[in-house]
Amino acid sequence: MHELLVELFPICRSITGDGVRATLRAIERHVPLDWHEVPTGTRVLDWTIPNEWNIRDAWVKDPAGRTIAAFRDSNLHVVSYSAPMHRHLTLAELRPHLFSLPERPNWIPYRTSYHDENWGFCLAHRQVERLVDGDYEVLIDSTLAPGSLSYAECVLPGTDTAEVLFACHICHPSMANDSLSGVVLTTFLAEAMARRTRRYTYRFLFAPATIGAIAWLATQGALVDRVLHGVVLTCVGDPGPLTYKRSRRGAAEIDHAVLQVLRDRHVEHRVVEFTPYGGDERQFCSPGYDLAVGALTRTPYGEYPEYHTSADTPALVTPAALGDSLDVCLGVIDVLESNGRYLNLSPYGEPELGRRGLFRAISGNVDASSPEVALLWVLNYADGHHTLLDVAARSGLSFDRIREAARVLNEHALVKEIPDGRLEMGSPRTTLEAQQVQQVQQVHQVHQVHQVTKGTSQA
Ligand code: ZN
Repeated sequence: MHELLVELFPICRSITGDGVRATLRAIERHVPLDWHEVPTGTRVLDWTIPNEWNIRDAWVKDPAGRTIAAFRDSNLHVVSYSAPMHRHLTLAELRPHLFSLPERPNWIPYRTSYHDENWGFCLAHRQVERLVDGDYEVLIDSTLAPGSLSYAECVLPGTDTAEVLFACHICHPSMANDSLSGVVLTTFLAEAMARRTRRYTYRFLFAPATIGAIAWLATQGALVDRVLHGVVLTCVGDPGPLTYKRSRRGAAEIDHAVLQVLRDRHVEHRVVEFTPYGGDERQFCSPGYDLAVGALTRTPYGEYPEYHTSADTPALVTPAALGDSLDVCLGVIDVLESNGRYLNLSPYGEPELGRRGLFRAISGNVDASSPEVALLWVLNYADGHHTLLDVAARSGLSFDRIREAARVLNEHALVKEIPDGRLEMGSPRTTLEAQQVQQVQQVHQVHQVHQVTKGTSQA
């Protein structure tokens, strides 16, 4: 992942243009991609695809003819989407077009001007402070012309058409942790999932932030409801502890799954509530869609000083942190794939576990620390309503222990899994699922009536 990140780092990306396509081509060496080109002027929800921007060169020369900012040294020097120009200016005329960070005088900031035609240069503040009056020459060799916005997705079908979405943004120029760490993680996650058998269909989306996600949503229509669970990935390569931002729903299955995986790892992490700012979770969780999509970062955007500056380099991203983030994502997938609802087939009193060899031969009282306790949790909550994740959360036991208990009980015909026992409301299968739960309840009621009748006759 870190090698791919280093390879992608120098490419000048923006919300459109050849840098995005070069990035997608590099990703395509790892996973198959479906490409989409959305033409300039296309209405996507409330937005319009802008002109495509491409840049070949840009620089500012001071009165002595020395280059003070060159695109070839750092693509952050040019405000993204700067209009083409070649002009001589006084320092006073140039100043409103210069951006720097007084509090970080050696770093170049990252600035964009996507939707107002403008131009500008970003410089280290120490350089701006040294500028003298005189004649400045400015060149921006760019094109802003009708073209298209590019995005791509890798779709891996499962036995179920319901989908798990992983999304990253591919629109940032040379910055490593914000944007690229998410891109390489999404790529390798797709590569890993391509080799596995899958219950869900997996969709890995590589799109420019905001307008790319909006373009994707606009093309999905009602199909967007196939997305049952989702996670937006960025800032996943720094060594800070993981931070999970809940979906707008707050307690969706994806939220439970990520929380459970983070908790089971017993390492420091943070869980924060949904906010309507940040990454593309804003689009997926806009109220018209309200998809169950959360966001995973390590140190969140804006909370590390290098964010959106030239100091966000591949040195800030460690292979170990990327690997750890990948493990967590695979752990979340593992939970989603095996989470389910079970039905206790012997729900009247506790089944005799000792007779089945499921209890220690010599045992005192079973308490919270006993190895058998996971069996009791699963048996009690295998009521057709609670999922294994619910049982893990209630019991405080790890998902692995609860899943293993369900497996053993299933082997002994004490529980059975309810097919497609999904948690999410509003999913295409909700009605079917509700019917199944109802059937289960009816079976129980019939059983209860039978038992009561029997009890009466015996009395
Ligand atoms: Zn960013």
